[in-house]
Amino acid sequence: MRFDVITILPNILESFSQESLIARAQKKKIIFFNVHNLRKWTKDRHKTVDDRPYGGGAGMVLMVPPIMKAVESVKLKMIPPNPLLQKRGDKVSRVILFSAKGKRFTQSDARRLSKYKQLIMICGRYEGVDERVARHIADEEISIGDYVLFGGEVPAMVMTEAVTRLLPNAVGKIESVEQESHKKIGYIEHPHYTRPEEIKIKGKVRRVPKVLLSGNHNEIEKWRKRKSKFKS
Ligand code: SAM
Repeated sequence: MRFDVITILPNILESFSQESLIARAQKKKIIFFNVHNLRKWTKDRHKTVDDRPYGGGAGMVLMVPPIMKAVESVKLKMIPPNPLLQKRGDKVSRVILFSAKGKRFTQSDARRLSKYKQLIMICGRYEGVDERVARHIADEEISIGDYVLFGGEVPAMVMTEAVTRLLPNAVGKIESVEQESHKKIGYIEHPHYTRPEEIKIKGKVRRVPKVLLSGNHNEIEKWRKRKSKFKS
């Protein structure tokens, strides 16, 4: 699967793409993670990507033309010729605009988006992005939560991780995704413990639940089922 992030601050995503499971997924060619500097699609000497808002007011707004050109340029034009990737119902590209006023991103969106060959992610900055991008260029306007960030780069990392975890072989058996929180709406996974068996925290000894030390796998499974729950 291919991710194309369009941003005016590409360095923010650099170490993200070079660490841990995201780096490994690239090495294994499970994902292709590309970061594009929006300024590449400007023509003027100053590489201008923003302008003042019509009607006045504070802040600057990212303009349509560089974003439109960037999306056109990175969008996959057809399904890759690999027959293995040409199953019926394959979906090609989805253009995402990150916005504090977008639809809240959930695990079921991550699952749905993991079926595409390519996600193009547009990161806003400043006061935001010309509304015509949301209406006529992006397929979806997505928020990662009800708060306002400086830009769409953190949301792009959030979406990349959430989607990559769901791709075959991106996560080893050690860290199974099958029983994780949010596998169904509201589902919360059981708690985890590791060494030491007991530890003093704020003056009180805190122990690992006995059943987890018992070696009785049936009982452990029952305990885990009991401790998993659906949030109301
Ligand atoms: N003026 C905008 C508003 O009130 O909704 C906020 C703009 S914010 C400072 C700049 C950019 O950060 C946005 O265009 C968007 O791309 C990104 N952003 C901020 N908060 C976000 C959130 N909760 N989810 C997704 N993207 C967000």
